[in-house]
Amino acid sequence: MENIMFFPTPLPNEDFRSILYRYHMYSLNREITDTNIELFGSKSKFTVFPRSLEILLQKLPFCKELQAQTIIEKHTLLPTFLPFLSESRTNSILKDILHRAELEEICVGKLVGSKYGKSVSEEIKYCPQCIEEDWEIYGVSYIHREHQYAFIHTCFKHSVDLITQCDDCGTELMYTPILGRCKSGHNIMYRKSSNMNDQFEKELHMDLKFLFIHSTEIKLWLFKQRFWEYLNVKGFLKIGGKQIRQQVFIKEFLNAFTHEQFLRMGIEINYIKKWNSIERILGYKTDPLVVNVPLSLLLIKFLAGSLERFILKPVPFVSEIPFGNGPWVCKNKNCPEYMQSTIHKCARTKNGLGGIKGQFICECCQAGYVMEWKKGSVIKRSRYRNNVFFSKAKEDQVVHLLGEGETLGRIATKLFCSVDFVRKVAKEHSMSMQFKLLIVGNEIAATSEISEESQQKKQYRQTIVNFMQRNPEFSRNQILTKYRKEYAWLRRNDAIWFEENLPLSKSFVRFDWNEFDVTLEKKIRDSAKKLIESNPNTRVGKYSIMATLSKKEVGRLKTYIQHLPKSNNALIECSETKEQYQLRHLPALVWQLKTYYNYKQITVETIQAYRRSYRGITDDFKIVISERLRELNE
Ligand SMILES: [Zn+2]
Ligand SMILES: [Zn+2]
Ligand SMILES: [Zn+2]
Repeated sequence: MENIMFFPTPLPNEDFRSILYRYHMYSLNREITDTNIELFGSKSKFTVFPRSLEILLQKLPFCKELQAQTIIEKHTLLPTFLPFLSESRTNSILKDILHRAELEEICVGKLVGSKYGKSVSEEIKYCPQCIEEDWEIYGVSYIHREHQYAFIHTCFKHSVDLITQCDDCGTELMYTPILGRCKSGHNIMYRKSSNMNDQFEKELHMDLKFLFIHSTEIKLWLFKQRFWEYLNVKGFLKIGGKQIRQQVFIKEFLNAFTHEQFLRMGIEINYIKKWNSIERILGYKTDPLVVNVPLSLLLIKFLAGSLERFILKPVPFVSEIPFGNGPWVCKNKNCPEYMQSTIHKCARTKNGLGGIKGQFICECCQAGYVMEWKKGSVIKRSRYRNNVFFSKAKEDQVVHLLGEGETLGRIATKLFCSVDFVRKVAKEHSMSMQFKLLIVGNEIAATSEISEESQQKKQYRQTIVNFMQRNPEFSRNQILTKYRKEYAWLRRNDAIWFEENLPLSKSFVRFDWNEFDVTLEKKIRDSAKKLIESNPNTRVGKYSIMATLSKKEVGRLKTYIQHLPKSNNALIECSETKEQYQLRHLPALVWQLKTYYNYKQITVETIQAYRRSYRGITDDFKIVISERLRELNE
């Protein structure tokens, strides 16, 4: 066996055949078949997928880029086909790639597809703009693997039409563009190609990208399970849930796309009119070797809109457990995790009508909703459709922020709720304040307008300030006797200003604020520590800590914060930052992904795909997260 002393360095996403061809150019062999004998001991053309890879690798000096796994992952389209194959099929295919199988039956070449659905193009395709760019960056152009799908017609990056033929003479390009020219010597670069801004194709690109990223995590059984979940939810199952309403399904599937779209995907209408064709993909028992990737992607698109949604957002399935096992999605449109599976707990209670009521609270925004379930029927939720509610704690937070002078819009953004909700709380709050005033016999006209209230505040403050300036030696009590109405109103509605500006009350002076501050600070630190140790699903912020204190303590914190610097500090220091929370929450997410989605190795990208809130993180923090993930993956 002769060793090979030089071999081209693989370029990003370079098709394996392209690497071989570049070697062929260096080798000065006359024919490709000569080179193939030299590399693989086989007198044939370069195959779409490598076979007998071990023979080649043994001849090469060891390097990371040229290991079997790296070649398969980075230089073939296999990562996007393997998820559609059963484990035993995958194993025989990998065997064939490494050692070349004896039986034709399990040949990896069959993955290119059949006449009913082609996955890999027979002709090699190029993007003219990629050729130009590659030439500038690498000094050579090459075959991009992601251009080689039979059902993809534009470049992922440039959205222009891919080409297979020379514009000038019409000859098939084959490998020649690697040299920048067609067989007759026409320059391939700098050609204008029409820009196809095609939404349908763009979505396909997204699906394939998702497949590449999650290739090792998505399994055939998950596809099949999801298919049945969606068939059920979309009403394609007969009563009993075991049989499909075939004719209805076919009719709606055909209506979902245009004839041109089916054609572009290489799917014949007559083929999908036969139930067998669909059954081959959806059926629980089928285990085909020839994967119909375009048809599978179309079916997924039809049922779920996109592959990402199909895989990551499970839909409720009829089962004997009311509402199933979860996780369930958040339905609060203002939540950063809207329609993501953020809910892992469901509070089930009897609804008094022989059914079960389930309450679901989002772990991110704390918004909740209710669904009803009845044995043997699909989930009913008509009465509660899109009816998201918030807890009392959320209302308190709104009131508090209103007191700090935040606008309705900012409060809504901060607390992940709608402006309408904030307005409603503001109104109710202001009504109850008015009500209290009426009780104490004040004569202020009841009004719910906040702007009028602030007008009043200004007037009253002015009255009191003027009086104090004229009589600087007067005590609180004396001010009270003179301006009873203003005094009472400001004390109730403008407490912070009131305490900061009026002379100290006698009892207040006697009160030992420092002692109280020290005690409260300790309590805050202890509670925060316990709270974080209990590992809640939400960030431990200022409000969660305050919720553990007594009403009186919270009241003092809110009104006399300027006398409680240590406690204030403790509140700020003990609140978790977003990063601290994200790091603490990581094990829970890893557990969820492993348990619910059968992930084995979890990367930052997986986490980001699963939880939107992790997407905007800094590069430094990304490193921290990856390190933690490495520990958790072990
Ligand atoms: Zn391109
Ligand atoms: Zn030409
Ligand atoms: Zn939410």
